[in-house]
Amino acid sequence: MTELRTLKVALLGCGNVGAQVARILIDDAGALAARTGARLELSGIAVRNVDAERDVELPRELFTTDADTLVKDADVVIELMGGIEPARTLILTAMRNGACVVSGNKALLAQDGPTLYEEADKAGVQLSYEAAVAGAIPILRPIRDSLSGDRITRVLGIVNGTTNYILDQMDSTGAQFADALAEAQRLGYAEADPTADIEGYDAAAKAAILASLSFHTRFALEDVSCEGITAVSAADIAAAKEAGFVIKLLAIAEKLTDEDGKTGVSVRVHPTLLPREHPLAAVRGAFNAVFIEAENAGELMFYGQGAGGTPTASAVLGDLVSAARRVVLGGPGRTETTTGHVPALPIDASITSYYIGLDVADQPGVLARIAQLFAEHGVSIEIMRQTIHRDAESNVESAELRIVTHRAREAALAATVEAVKGLDVINSVTSVLRVEGV
Ligand code: NAP
Repeated sequence: MTELRTLKVALLGCGNVGAQVARILIDDAGALAARTGARLELSGIAVRNVDAERDVELPRELFTTDADTLVKDADVVIELMGGIEPARTLILTAMRNGACVVSGNKALLAQDGPTLYEEADKAGVQLSYEAAVAGAIPILRPIRDSLSGDRITRVLGIVNGTTNYILDQMDSTGAQFADALAEAQRLGYAEADPTADIEGYDAAAKAAILASLSFHTRFALEDVSCEGITAVSAADIAAAKEAGFVIKLLAIAEKLTDEDGKTGVSVRVHPTLLPREHPLAAVRGAFNAVFIEAENAGELMFYGQGAGGTPTASAVLGDLVSAARRVVLGGPGRTETTTGHVPALPIDASITSYYIGLDVADQPGVLARIAQLFAEHGVSIEIMRQTIHRDAESNVESAELRIVTHRAREAALAATVEAVKGLDVINSVTSVLRVEGV
């Protein structure tokens, strides 16, 4: 029997994900060797503090603070430290030294992906990052490989478990945003500083990665228009529910033609009303899912755990086996194609429906005036519902109007809302949310 070749695997980071990757590498060494045709030897683990307590018991001698030396002597480097530096420099050093790299670092990929991809191409090594989008869910490889003979037209993703948990809690219990956030923090679904999640920045980084692979063009974070969930109120959720919708924070990437006939891709993140029967509406709690529409495959949905040490480690190990096989077989790194050359379109060019909540004076002719204003802006109304309220103290009646529009350009919808605000019969615009899947 021929002796298996040994590949040195350097691990950078031993936190939630890294510790589980190290555990699986050691515990499943036999199966991993059989699948790759090489022994995968964990050559070291770089951390900040070698004496820190870990979730997993690991040999003390594997730990080092000298990440630089570790990456220079590795066949595959797994970067799970997060952040921009030193992760970026270490990944570049590893690739320049001929090592394949596996990373879960969506922040770095969204901020400086092009530099990393170019270096991977130049060095002829593989750079893979399945764990960076939707944790355990195999989504990047299906987009890059399985769908490479098709044309993706639209991607809708629930790619942030924290915000999905918060919105789901609000939907199922009627909780206000702040209470649902506090509950998410208590259960460990949200961090002490939840800004990156609730403002949509984490989802925006993933949207840039999904759009880049789906449309064979490199999109950066600044190409993504981003709105988080902090303005979503319990009243919005209740009104959406009553109208048969659920509110989800979606990462959307879709091919569009703007008003000047220019084709491009709209990449955006915002709270979105979805009909309750849409497959993404059934994604509860902290789960993630990505819904893809492709010309030939039609509709596809990928569902699973979007975070957590062990689920995310599964995605990392898949990338590791793929990279190790490539090292064993030789040949150039397999990177994504960037031949699409489609520009990013501003959010104004996107085509969507709006849900608009209005508090209006209860006077004759109000509905007609509002409907006329919509028509003047070229926006047609699909549903208009009115509920009358009487203030117990003043005895003054007001009406709550809920409008769902047909699909129109974002610019026209936004202009309509601005014009509506100027009408003297409008007390306030209580909510403006985009609608998909109708
Ligand atoms: P984490 O728990 O914070 O762990 C980070 C690890 O990196 C720690 O072991 C830390 O060392 C080490 N580290 C940080 N800065 C370092 C430096 N300058 N030098 C040496 N070591 C350093 O992070 P995580 O949750 O495992 O996430 C890791 C990566 O996976 C991130 O890019 C994240 O976005 C991505 N990801 C995470 C999840 C998830 O569910 N957690 C899901 C998808 C993707 P010490 O332990 O000594 O402090």
